Amino acid sequence: MTAPATSFSTLPLGPAVQANLQRLGYLEMTAIQAASLPPALLGKDIIAQAKTGSGKTAAFALALLANLNARRFAVQSLVLCPTRELADQVTTEVRRLARAEDNIKVVTLVGGVPLRGQLATLEHGAHVVVGTPGRVLDHLQRGSLQLDAVNTLVLDEADRMLDMGFFEEIAGVIRLCPPQRQTLLFSATYPEEIDRLAAQFMREPLTVKVEAQH
Ligand code: ADP
Ligand code: MG
Repeated sequence: MTAPATSFSTLPLGPAVQANLQRLGYLEMTAIQAASLPPALLGKDIIAQAKTGSGKTAAFALALLANLNARRFAVQSLVLCPTRELADQVTTEVRRLARAEDNIKVVTLVGGVPLRGQLATLEHGAHVVVGTPGRVLDHLQRGSLQLDAVNTLVLDEADRMLDMGFFEEIAGVIRLCPPQRQTLLFSATYPEEIDRLAAQFMREPLTVKVEAQH
């Protein structure tokens, strides 16, 4: 029997990752995962549009984990989110999906919490940073965060970040990422400013859109 095209087993993911997905009960990809993961795993820049609850987090989490070298202790993935709550949710999902790998450290950098704890955590290093644009930029300006090893940049809930007026902060962060990187933009809607971001900061992005339910 051949696996349907929506099975995770059709993706070029290692056996440990596949086993972890099974353990989590992730058997079939959602529509946005099936549309975005194959090109994302080929290294393409992606603009993915699908409604809330459609599984966008796992789509970018699996892509960034595929680019990650656990033995290289440097920030290789950066995920920007609009709010602290969303950053916490993304951190939880990335950690669940990263369990198959050995000791991948995911750090959350959001505003509204004291800098001191974040500075101490960053001193110990991280593979993945999930944060809000303002606080991430703050760390970059202080020199407590370096992005020179970033190979995957994710803009999650890009429409909400733009609604909240984060365009300049996002742009400021992106300018400090290496130009040779993969950029993945996820959004529930497609306002005009997304085109502006894409035109400035993405390389021939592939747009994938899932209309209704998955
Ligand atoms: P979105 O970011 O699109 O709003 P989430 O990434 O938060 O959606 O996913 C919504 C829920 O679906 C989460 O609880 C997540 O664990 C679950 N989920 C994601 N992908 C799958 C899958 N392939 N199979 C089963 N559950 C999934
Ligand atoms: Mg989401």
